Amino acid sequence: MMQSAYHILNSVYGYRHFRLNQRDIIGSLLEGKDVLALMPTGGGKSLCYQIPSLVRSGVGIVVSPLIALMQDQVDALQQLGIRAAYLNSTLNYGTVLQVERELLEGQIDLLYVAPERLLTDKMLNLLDSVRNNVGIALFAIDEAHCVSQWGHDFRPEYQQLSVLAERFPGIPRIALTATADLRTRQEIIQQLRLQDADIYINSFDRPNIHYTIQQGQNARQQLWRFLEENHPQDAGIVYCLSRKKVEDTAAWLAEQGRKALPYHAGLDADTRRIHQQRFLREDGIIIVATIAFGMGIDKPDVRFVAHLSLPKSIEAYYQETGRAGRDGLPANAWMAYGLQDVITLRQMMQESTASEQQKRVEHHKLQAMLGLCEMTACRRQALLDYFGEPTPEPCGNCDNCQHPPEVWEAATAAQKALSCVYRTGQRFGVNYIIDVLLGKSDFRISQFRHDQLSTYGIGKEHSESEWRNIFRQLIALGYLNVDVDGHGGLRLTDKARPLLRGEEGLSLRKEQKRERVRKERNRAERAEKPEFAALSAEAKALFEALRNLRLRLAQEQGVPPYVIFHDATLLHMANERPQTLTEMRGITGVGERKLAQYGQAFLEVVLGA
Ligand code: ADP
Ligand code: ZN
Repeated sequence: MMQSAYHILNSVYGYRHFRLNQRDIIGSLLEGKDVLALMPTGGGKSLCYQIPSLVRSGVGIVVSPLIALMQDQVDALQQLGIRAAYLNSTLNYGTVLQVERELLEGQIDLLYVAPERLLTDKMLNLLDSVRNNVGIALFAIDEAHCVSQWGHDFRPEYQQLSVLAERFPGIPRIALTATADLRTRQEIIQQLRLQDADIYINSFDRPNIHYTIQQGQNARQQLWRFLEENHPQDAGIVYCLSRKKVEDTAAWLAEQGRKALPYHAGLDADTRRIHQQRFLREDGIIIVATIAFGMGIDKPDVRFVAHLSLPKSIEAYYQETGRAGRDGLPANAWMAYGLQDVITLRQMMQESTASEQQKRVEHHKLQAMLGLCEMTACRRQALLDYFGEPTPEPCGNCDNCQHPPEVWEAATAAQKALSCVYRTGQRFGVNYIIDVLLGKSDFRISQFRHDQLSTYGIGKEHSESEWRNIFRQLIALGYLNVDVDGHGGLRLTDKARPLLRGEEGLSLRKEQKRERVRKERNRAERAEKPEFAALSAEAKALFEALRNLRLRLAQEQGVPPYVIFHDATLLHMANERPQTLTEMRGITGVGERKLAQYGQAFLEVVLGA
């Protein structure tokens, strides 16, 4: 059976090798075992259940919450010559009847269905008949972390999916997710009754993603520079915290000449659907979004994810940045953040209706995220460490590795800052404290007689922006809390005492100067996408011509371009320049069906170039 799995990998998908644990996962399913597979985004989860569905007799049932994306998933499979279909609330009655008939006649290899539909009596009865008539190859439960009440994607229906274990014993089930943490893993096993399952956990590293976190000074300009230098035409996602910032940023990018579209929960469903469709179907669209956008978006060629606001946790950061580079080609995770982000997020958390315990958890998670922002060592190591996956070496593919930040001994400055917070009564915000440190004359300062304090004017050796930089780090490192009373007042934490008493040193990151930024620009230019940069001028031109053909073919059929061929396949073609259809079949991602369908057209472009 493993032999037929390899055969399908090559003939249907046009791939030579299995990736990560794909081989073993498929092996377990072919032996009829249950499986829990944890794999990072882009790792290749779909193949793990698609191939066994084709090898085993009967239809593979895929449970997925992503109704809006089922059409694209099915389109992609049909392009490979796989008989796939879906059942969800968007279909009309006639189509539903047709799919049901085809199911019972054994004309379907893979069926996608939403959990709430799967759980209806009607559907379960239909599946009984399918089992008795043509057989069920397996059940795949995608996005399995949706069972977790603690995650951000909780779906109550997922908890009822244990019914599959009772009603269809002996049919292998595989649960898949890209969420790493232990607690979620245990919940999946328990809720879905996977106690006897084979468990496969891959590394969560995304080596092709380059991480950069900058201090935001003029975040919009910084974003623009980042886009111009690295992604002048690429598709990507820009995340912002508020709807207003989403709208403003999208409008601004559009004014600058980029194809940028807003996406947030305040837009009506039609607009959101259209914007998502355009993102998937056109080249080079930038989606500016709140976190409402992204789950399950399997567009492989998202070349960057930029954050203009701080994510709430490392989990969120990993998940959002993980939407870049699913195709394995180089991609950027870029972020600019500043003091105001921290204050806004803290206030939002404080004002939420969550329980005190929940708030404490959120506070901790935010602190961990801030730690990642302010650290001076390898960011990937820290990220993986957070998910319980220690790595021995720095990665060489993050900003800190490539350009170690300068640090300075800041204990004295920190003492001045902390004691000024203390002496003013621990109720003022950052701006006020800085004014006192700088000895500004101001009505409020004299009214409160803070110009009489020993800390008044003792901070003149630093500029206002340097002080903001210092305060941001003191908050990020947990010496100061942004209070809690809703006015952004600062308060000392227990951690501040030894520092205040002079018992500890403190080294902080130096403020990024203009010159630094410029140096970084050159580096970014050099680091730009080796795959593309390595192409000769002719290969680049050929790549563009192949892309144009792809876009035209995609538009004719109303499918996303990547459903026809991935960028990686076109790059391979541009480099190899196949001269015959047989050579074309040797290109990664060109299986038999695609060769028959598109081989000639792409060959002609190569030969004509
Ligand atoms: P995930 O669901 O884990 O995010 P996908 O299943 O969408 O990832 O796979 C990511 C991309 O990698 C897809 O475009 C897929 O075709 C490709 N891929 C998967 N397995 C292989 C493989 N063995 N060789 C080459 N490409 C692969
Ligand atoms: Zn690194």
